[in-house]
Amino acid sequence: MEISLRNKNILLTGASRGIGRAAAEALAASGARVAVHYNSNKEAAEALVKRIGNNSKAFGADLGTGEGPLQLWEAVREGFGTIDVLINNAGVAISSPIDKNDEEWLHDWGHTMMVNLNATAILCKKAVEHFKSRGGGRIINISSRAAFRGDTAEYMAYASSKGGMVSLTRSIARAFGKEGIVAFNIAPGFTRTDMAQDFIDQYGEGYALNDIALNRLTRPEDIAPTLVFLAAGMADHATGATIDLNAGSYVH
Ligand code: NAP
Repeated sequence: MEISLRNKNILLTGASRGIGRAAAEALAASGARVAVHYNSNKEAAEALVKRIGNNSKAFGADLGTGEGPLQLWEAVREGFGTIDVLINNAGVAISSPIDKNDEEWLHDWGHTMMVNLNATAILCKKAVEHFKSRGGGRIINISSRAAFRGDTAEYMAYASSKGGMVSLTRSIARAFGKEGIVAFNIAPGFTRTDMAQDFIDQYGEGYALNDIALNRLTRPEDIAPTLVFLAAGMADHATGATIDLNAGSYVH
């Protein structure tokens, strides 16, 4: 059975590095035209677009602002015409200790929610409206293992934002399935990226390795094939589900 994304337009946020970059490469290798979203790493996004081909294109937007996600959606609609799959992958994990002063702690909380949850929510809303008018579409939200087991004290906002993404995704799956719209969560554990490196620098690599059943930390390339599989419609009847990609940490 061939898994093909030919003639599929995919909006992928946070594709300039980490999990998003590996996902863009895998999606394009299966034939997709990818809207490669970036925030600050324009050059990296443009180099990626050149590498993956398929008439893919880079789109910049700060998803930490109210207007950023809407501008991104409009720009991709204008550039691509239609969108078949939305993948909300962009995210931030800010270390915010409980003894930080209230104002700064709340600022970290708010920014985390803006990028991880609010931007995901508004992009999902736009996608649902668009998909309803086209008879269907797919949404994949990159949540986290932290949604299910919580996180360390410094990352409570992060875990909460990821928990919100899970409920949002399940609600979309429930509400719009009859209209051909399916929605999935991916919940990675530690994955070797800049984001995980910040945590590893703080807690040490042993902390992460002790948590998993496998003998090495997950890499972005270990996450990407599942995104291709879901985007291609190979698991539509798993709509509403979360796929744990955490190197067996729940069975360890
Ligand atoms: P990463 O390497 O830190 O990359 C983050 C991506 O998000 C970048 O493309 C970045 O864009 C974008 N981004 C950051 N702030 C943004 C903003 N304000 N507006 C728009 N885009 C913004 O992260 P990653 O590890 O690949 O994580 C990808 C997703 O997987 C995230 O949702 C993360 O929570 C989730 N996840 C990661 C892990 C892990 O261990 N790595 C585990 C569980 C879940 P620029 O580079 O252009 O600024």
